[in-house]
Amino acid sequence: MTTDAHHQVLVVGGGSAGVSVAARLLRLGIRDVGVVEPSGTHYYQPLWTLVGGGRATAGASSRPQRSVLPKGVSWIRDRVESVDPEARTVGTADGSVIAYDRLVVCPGLQLDWNRVPGMAQAVTAPHTSSNYTYELAPKTWDLIRSMRSGTAVFTMPSGPIKCGGAPQKIAYLAADHWREQGVLKDIRVVLALPTPAMFGVPVFAGELERVAARYGIEVHRSSELVEVDPDGRTAVLVHHESGARESVRFDMMHLVPPQSAPDWLKGGPLAAPADPAGYVEIDRHTMRHVRHPEIFALGDAGSSPNSKTGAAVRRQAPVVARNVAASLAGAEPLPASYDGYSSCPITTSRHSVLLAEFDYGLRHRPTLPLVDTTRERRDLWYLKRYGLPFLYWHLMLRGRA
Ligand code: FAD
Repeated sequence: MTTDAHHQVLVVGGGSAGVSVAARLLRLGIRDVGVVEPSGTHYYQPLWTLVGGGRATAGASSRPQRSVLPKGVSWIRDRVESVDPEARTVGTADGSVIAYDRLVVCPGLQLDWNRVPGMAQAVTAPHTSSNYTYELAPKTWDLIRSMRSGTAVFTMPSGPIKCGGAPQKIAYLAADHWREQGVLKDIRVVLALPTPAMFGVPVFAGELERVAARYGIEVHRSSELVEVDPDGRTAVLVHHESGARESVRFDMMHLVPPQSAPDWLKGGPLAAPADPAGYVEIDRHTMRHVRHPEIFALGDAGSSPNSKTGAAVRRQAPVVARNVAASLAGAEPLPASYDGYSSCPITTSRHSVLLAEFDYGLRHRPTLPLVDTTRERRDLWYLKRYGLPFLYWHLMLRGRA
């Protein structure tokens, strides 16, 4: 087969994972790194929660893609649509065929708005929004600040999503704003979570129970949005265990769509044969594909069962870069291992954050010395608002942290 280009390492996706890993590969002395990324803009998605909560501007979450790609990387402004692991090539939307020696797959997750009847229409309707896109996050804040009474519904889908804490963070930011405005007593706040507990790690679940109770939030556990009527402003919630359906009429709703790996990965050679979610099937420690040793994955599109966050990507990127370099040098076994570390800074008010840090075993894994991160704290607010964005743009994307 004729190919249009060849790279020693080809990275699919120039998001948090792709840029971080490309920077690390260059630092390890690998000179020929190509990154396939269709978007001209790079986003720091964790800020979207604060945009929706009126605590940051959308513009602060975006930068030109060119400015974050490490110098020396070849940017292929295209979209990968297929992978042929036997031929060691990828096919792109423009019809190019690009060959690789090693492939790193990190195209993130796709938002499945159409999986819930009415959701795709609802999200563009006047009373509904979602922090899960750059365009809609400012609308969330518009809805929150114009609300004085009525019912506000916040939902979370089942299955892995980007930042499992984000669906409830925005509920607390909103409730705290309404408290400050003196209108919280006139607003019914409903938070529908698909899980029986408020968080997977018990020590944080307990603290979040207290936070929700402080605002008088009605938490519907094991409950999920199964239908929305945007015109009638009605959300239908189903209780997982009892099967009971409840219709809630809302005056505003924050939606989080179900998520999965991009469609082109589903059913393809990189996904596990029986996994409809389509994640790239990798070893959870080495991040190498279980059947194709020259392919690696990290970030949200990988099958490693960590919580899908940028914090996890920060720990995965050095592991993948070292293991790719080792495999190019013919070293076995691969030297670097990822332990499942992930973290989630949960905004519990407009001035406080609870920093949930944990690993594959959902064990609490604190990394800040002398700071009790099992309680919401004001100093952690500054970490979330200023410290982590600085870390991201200046250190993580440059392969320095
Ligand atoms: P992304 O950063 O999404 O990047 C994927 C890239 O691949 C994109 O640039 C995309 O254009 C590109 N791409 C897609 N398809 C293709 C293709 N076919 N070919 C080539 N390129 C392609 N994480 C935290 O750590 N803390 C938080 O507080 C936090 N809060 C969040 C709040 C919200 C509202 C959201 C949406 C996310 C949040 N996250 C948080 C999660 C974090 O943003 C993601 O986990 C992280 O961005 C994953 O990195 P990634 O590179 O795998 O995916």
